[in-house]
Amino acid sequence: MQLESLGSDAAFAGEAIRDAVRSMRAMERDALGYTLTKANASPVTVADFVVQALVASRLAEHVPNDPLVAEEDATILRTETAREVRGRVVELLGRIRPGCGLESEQVLAWIDRGRGLCGPRFWTLDPIDGTKGLLRGGQYVVALALIVDGAVQIGIVGCPRLSVTTAPASQPESGEHAMVAALEGDVEGGVAVAVRGRGAWWMSLHGNHLTRLSVSSESNPAQTRALHSLESRHSDVDELHRILRELGSHASPMLMDGQTKQVLLAAGAAELLMRIPIDPEYRETIWEQAAGALLVEEAGGRVTDLHGRPLDFTTGRHLLRNTGLVASNGLLHDAVLVIVRHRHVR
Ligand code: AMP
Ligand code: MG
Repeated sequence: MQLESLGSDAAFAGEAIRDAVRSMRAMERDALGYTLTKANASPVTVADFVVQALVASRLAEHVPNDPLVAEEDATILRTETAREVRGRVVELLGRIRPGCGLESEQVLAWIDRGRGLCGPRFWTLDPIDGTKGLLRGGQYVVALALIVDGAVQIGIVGCPRLSVTTAPASQPESGEHAMVAALEGDVEGGVAVAVRGRGAWWMSLHGNHLTRLSVSSESNPAQTRALHSLESRHSDVDELHRILRELGSHASPMLMDGQTKQVLLAAGAAELLMRIPIDPEYRETIWEQAAGALLVEEAGGRVTDLHGRPLDFTTGRHLLRNTGLVASNGLLHDAVLVIVRHRHVR
C-alpha cells in the first residue's frame, strides 16, 4: 500500500506531517531553549510555533479555502517580551523552507491561520501534542485531522520519537504480523495515517510503503494493558488502577504524553486508554482527540467518552458533549463501560 492510494488529501497531509516530523528531529535541540508560558499557564516552545507555521503554510497552498483550527496563535509572539522567541521561530522556519526570504509578518500570519472556525469542513492541528514530553525528553507528536460534517475523515499523527515495525507473529502459519513499537534507543520516527473506511497505517520517514496498524486481539479483561497520561493532573490514574483491578488486570499502566498513546493502542501494544477528568467540568480539545480517535477506530478499536457516547466533533474547539475518554481494542470496551457505570466515575 502506498500513501497516494489513500487519496490526494491524505497524501498531501501525510507528507506535510512527515516533513514536520523530519524538521522536529533536525531542530529539536535548537527549539528547546526558548519557552514561553501561555495565559493558561501551559508551556509553549519555539517548536510549537514553527510546526504550526509549517503545516498552516502547506494547507494554505494545497487547500486555501479550508479553515484551520489549531492550538496556537501568534498573540503572545507579537509581544515585546517574545522578541527573541519570535526571531528564533522565523530563523528555524527559514531553515525548513529555504529560499522563501521569510518575513516575520508572513510567519505570524501563517500561525494565525489556525484561528479558523469549525465549519462543515475544517482541519484541526496540535503542532506539538505533549509539549511537556518534548521538554522532558519523552514522547510528543504532531497531530492533524480533517473533519467533515462532524466526522473525522483523515487523522495523521506524526511521531518523532516512536518507531513501529512489524515482526513475524508467534504462529507464522497465521500469516499475521505483530507490531512492535520502539520508544527508546535508536528510534527512527514515523507517521501514523488513518482514512475513514480505508484503515490505519504506519509510514516510516523514508519511502512510501505503508504498514497496516491493527489493535490487539486480546479479549481477556485480566490481560488488559492500559495507557495513561504522564501528567497526573490531566486524568485520575488512581481511578484507572481501581478499574484495572476490577477487570482483574495487575499490569501497571504505561504512562505517556499526547496521542502517542492512541498510536500504541492502534498498533496493538496495549488494549485500553482512559482519560478520567479530575475536574468533571474539563472538556477535551478537538486537536487532542480527533486524529487519535480515527486511528484507533480504523485499526479496529472503539472510542467513546466515559458514558459510552461517541465523541461529538460538532461543538467547536472543545468536546462540550463528552466527558473523558475510553479508547480500547473494542473487545474489552463494554466491560470497561460497565465498571465505569457502576463506579459512577465523573
Ligand atoms: P496528555 O499527555 O495525554 O495528558 O495530553 C496533554 C494535554 O492535556 C495538554 O496538551 C493539555 O491540552 C491537556 N490538558 C491540560 N490540562 C488538562 C486537564 N486539567 N485535564 C485534562 N487534560 C488537560
Ligand atoms: Mg500542543
